[in-house]
Amino acid sequence: MFTLKPLPYKPNALEPTISGRTLDFHYNKHHVGYLNKLNELSAGKYNNVALEDVIRQTCGKDIPIFNNAAQVYNHSFYWDSMTDKYKQPPEKIMQLIKECFGSYEKFAEEFVANGVGQFGSGWVWLIKSETKGLEILKTANADTPIAHGLAPLITCDVWEHAYYLDYQNRRPDYLKLFLEKLVNWEFAEQNL
Ligand code: MN
Repeated sequence: MFTLKPLPYKPNALEPTISGRTLDFHYNKHHVGYLNKLNELSAGKYNNVALEDVIRQTCGKDIPIFNNAAQVYNHSFYWDSMTDKYKQPPEKIMQLIKECFGSYEKFAEEFVANGVGQFGSGWVWLIKSETKGLEILKTANADTPIAHGLAPLITCDVWEHAYYLDYQNRRPDYLKLFLEKLVNWEFAEQNL
């Protein structure tokens, strides 16, 4: 049985950027829904296998289990990517951002453009690349960097359920405010 990771803050802690109603539905209906489906599909298989390993083992092979396992992982990573006590990126990660993107502003522009450019449902990520330092990546539906040997630092959910109650079709505004108000840069730095 895979278990639900608790939210690191109260459902209304990210207001007004993300409403309590959105977060409550997102966590208690969507995230829990993926977890329940994963447990149903994987019953009797994958005992004592870590979630990350299930994702790696089912990628391209068992699509229903992969989709639900990856969505459980992606959502936990998304909750951890945000904080109700926003602080500017610390020195070490800010330096890397400047080296890799030219400036913080260029990074933010590219992150938003990738999130907006993800056609349909998916995720936008800041990842650590072995060769190029930091990179921005977008993935479709449940796909996740860890299935491809890549190490994520933060993610933003761009499925409509993540923002539609608060922003309707304004995905760019949701992405900009995610960066300005919510990113947990300490969590990002821990993942370096
Ligand atoms: Mn979601």
